[in-house]
Amino acid sequence: MTRAVSITDNIIEVRSQIEQAAVLAGRRLTEITLIAVTKTIAPLQVAEAIAAGVTDFGENRVQEALPKVIAFPQVNWHLLGHLQRNKVKDVIGKFKLIHSVDSIKLAQMLTGPVLIEVNTSGEATKYGVTPEGLFPLLQVVSGFANIQVVGLMTIAPMVTDSEQARPYFSRLRELSFKVRELHLPNVKMSYLSMGMSDDFVAAIKEGANLVRIGRAIFGKRS
Ligand SMILES: *Cc1c(COP(=O)(O)O)cnc(C)c1O
Repeated sequence: MTRAVSITDNIIEVRSQIEQAAVLAGRRLTEITLIAVTKTIAPLQVAEAIAAGVTDFGENRVQEALPKVIAFPQVNWHLLGHLQRNKVKDVIGKFKLIHSVDSIKLAQMLTGPVLIEVNTSGEATKYGVTPEGLFPLLQVVSGFANIQVVGLMTIAPMVTDSEQARPYFSRLRELSFKVRELHLPNVKMSYLSMGMSDDFVAAIKEGANLVRIGRAIFGKRS
């Protein structure tokens, strides 16, 4: 079966929805970065998204990401998925941002800018620190010179309507405000990475400035 819609058309549509959500929220479009999520997506499709002007891409797994990072060095690559400690050596220097730090051990081994993943829903299947666990983690990590915490990331539960995901996103935003008040060294709250294909409109209303979108751009994953 051939794809009925083009990636370029999807990107135009997603961008227009991002813009509408930004306007509704009284925010500027330029402060929101679209990260196209390319897990399971072939290099040809990645190239099409680059041609359509996408500058930032995200992958879940290190092994799948590395060939694409090498093939497309002209764009920024983000590591979104859970990172195993035995893979850390493979990621150093390859990604613009690692979104999924959730332990002191991992923070100890990485270098560069990272986000802390927070499990705002409490779902057992999700990675991330608990909201309560965020503060003790940051107290320790703020003492590490090897990384800089530059924001927070969360994954909302599956929803049928974007608005249902809003409480999880507002939770992350509130947490980022609390963290900011602590004025911890090496900790800045510049980024909120939240919002995927089904819920990015709600995430933008709650202040997301990194949205991670796969299916709405590349179609359903096989
Ligand atoms: C797959 C994935 C996305 C994109 O999800 P879609 O529903 O395809 O938009 C975003 N973030 C993470 C962490 C993912 O694993």
